[in-house]
Amino acid sequence: MSSEKLPTRNENFSEWYNQIVLRAEMADYAPVRGCMVVLPYGWALWENIQQALDRRFKETGHVNAAFPLLIPMSFLEKEKEHVEGFSPELAVVTIGGGEKLEEPLVVRPTSETIIGYMYAKWIKSHRDLPVLINQWGNVVRWEMRTKLFLRTLEFYWQEGHTAHATAEEAQEETFRMLGVYADFAINEAAVPVIKGIKSDSEKFAGAVQSTTIEAMMGDRRALQTGTSHFLGQNFAQAFGIQYLDRNNQLQHAWTTSWGLSTRMIGAIIMTHGDDQGLILPPRLAPIQVVVVPIYKSEAEKSLVMPVVERVAAELKAAGFRLKVDSREELTPGFKFNDWEMRGVPLRVEIGPKDVEKSSVALARRDMPGKAGKSFVSQEGLASQVDGMLKTIQQAMLEHATAFRDSHIHQPGTYAELAEIVQDGWAFAWWCGDTACEARVKDDTKATTRCIPLDQPGSRGECIVCGKQASQKVYFARAY
Ligand SMILES: [Zn+2]
Repeated sequence: MSSEKLPTRNENFSEWYNQIVLRAEMADYAPVRGCMVVLPYGWALWENIQQALDRRFKETGHVNAAFPLLIPMSFLEKEKEHVEGFSPELAVVTIGGGEKLEEPLVVRPTSETIIGYMYAKWIKSHRDLPVLINQWGNVVRWEMRTKLFLRTLEFYWQEGHTAHATAEEAQEETFRMLGVYADFAINEAAVPVIKGIKSDSEKFAGAVQSTTIEAMMGDRRALQTGTSHFLGQNFAQAFGIQYLDRNNQLQHAWTTSWGLSTRMIGAIIMTHGDDQGLILPPRLAPIQVVVVPIYKSEAEKSLVMPVVERVAAELKAAGFRLKVDSREELTPGFKFNDWEMRGVPLRVEIGPKDVEKSSVALARRDMPGKAGKSFVSQEGLASQVDGMLKTIQQAMLEHATAFRDSHIHQPGTYAELAEIVQDGWAFAWWCGDTACEARVKDDTKATTRCIPLDQPGSRGECIVCGKQASQKVYFARAY
């Protein structure tokens, strides 16, 4: 780890973020521009994200499968909006085994087309529905401006693809999975998100309706952290996903897709991190507890280490993800900074005085300095640690929610809206006209983030044109 100080978030949020990703050893730049190597610590976080989501997918009746990375170019061309949306970002394979291919193959940017093709083959009758499949994998989108975890040429994600007999069932599924994402973000990642619907100009290419969870980052910009799409019959028609209904009539199926990616890691970093580094939510942290032994002499070491080993064994047995930092050549102060950079939620310090008093010192990562420090007995430490991790998880969510809410404002005029989105989110009436949305974007760089599911239920005047509006929308500058 470099001993140079991080840039503060106020000085340069973007560089602060880049430095944390590198110094906490979450990811590194790959030799191909825009690609990343996810390092073991970053991948361990992703594995915990995967587990928390996968459990929820299975609880809601989904199964996992794996579809191919290569998709015939003609598949993408079958859905007009889909190909228009994705063609600028496609990586195309034209040569295989030294021969020019008869048909170019696309490295999947997303898998609606190839999965649609397979569903058309598998689905024959209403008895075959619903099909509820998820895949964990990677995709490639040729992005121009890239940033580790937030936007890379290749990224890791899950994509769920479902087919249903009716529009109602498919819409229900779309919102069910949006709910799963929101539950995951809030209760596992401690990232408060707002559930809503994307405007037509922001929706997924080929969807009838896109829903999203939107989060506010530490620089007040918005980040779309998961999306769930109602695809109507667009892909069913393009690929011929048809079934015989109960009356023996041939019908097109209704499909959905939903995805959450390694972008979530960026969301966690930018929601919770501070000027000392990363702060990870205990439920997802690869290391929840780090034990740092403190001694100055061999004599002290021989007193301290047996206690460290016993305490660590007890905590491990209680199920915590724990690491003992017994590196000899480093000072305790250096180790504290190092684990603070990596965002470990709780530090246990054990020195000669603690051995004498049968106690340990606990230091909370989310509450730097004396305020986050406490001294507790070694007796019953596992339950103390358990309680402390739960408290940290809750405090992180509350902190992030309070931060977000303090930066959402309701403009009374267009001028106020333009002012607000320079440093926060504006929650305002919008008539639904794309021209009004485009004007805000041209004037301020802010886009509509989502039309939240929770609406005031009254009516107002569009913040841009003054016409009657029945919905409020969040405007913000976004990643
Ligand atoms: Zn308007």
